[in-house]
Amino acid sequence: MVLKTKGELELMDQANALVHEVLDHLGGLIAPGVTTRELDGTAEKMIRGAGAVPAFLHYKGFPATLCTSINDVIVHGIPDDTPLEDGDIIGIDCGVLFKGYYGDSARTFAVGEVSAGALELLDVTRGSLEKAVESVRPGAHLSDIGHAVQNHVESHGFTVVREFVGHGIGTALHEDPQVPNFGRPGRGPRLKPGLVLAIEPMVNAGVPGVKMDRDGWTARTEDGSLSAHFEFSVAVTESGPRVLGRGAGA
Ligand code: MG
Ligand code: MG
Repeated sequence: MVLKTKGELELMDQANALVHEVLDHLGGLIAPGVTTRELDGTAEKMIRGAGAVPAFLHYKGFPATLCTSINDVIVHGIPDDTPLEDGDIIGIDCGVLFKGYYGDSARTFAVGEVSAGALELLDVTRGSLEKAVESVRPGAHLSDIGHAVQNHVESHGFTVVREFVGHGIGTALHEDPQVPNFGRPGRGPRLKPGLVLAIEPMVNAGVPGVKMDRDGWTARTEDGSLSAHFEFSVAVTESGPRVLGRGAGA
């Protein structure tokens, strides 16, 4: 595990601030009729305009700046010309490389008016990320994070995806350790100041299983149920968790 200096955390804060700026902006554009390719083009322009590079574009051959994951797509959906529809939910995952450091964050948005069930899924998934962040402090165990997610999600009757996990992040997009969204507390290494983790619960309304599309990227729920995804890059500091790119106290 790579521990970052205070100076490095400032740079990672800048990278993640750009990611949040992009997600804020895209959130204002999301509406029925908009295509994911349009959102992707907007994101790429903003990222390059800020002097950064899209982190996912060409990553292991991924063809776009954003992962756009609609309804039953869990993660890694590829932007295309399909218009968003009223009642959809769309997960947008954005990564950038800025001044040598990666930022990575995701949110799931409602398109127009969505069902009460979809809204609850978004609330619970966002809530599970907040619980996970609250568990981050020096001396806590790595598995306390996944336990916090699983506990929150399952207490609301939803399920946690096992096949994809969070990760360390820094000068590489994916660093050690892996950060599962499930598990028993008190296991694994202890968290130390300077560690930065991308924590990213993926939560299904139905069964936790995953099936892959033929494109090799798009991961869907096995039963066609809705899925949501939220992600923050979080630094462990002496005083507790610091969500990078969200400003002081966020
Ligand atoms: Mg991400
Ligand atoms: Mg990530």
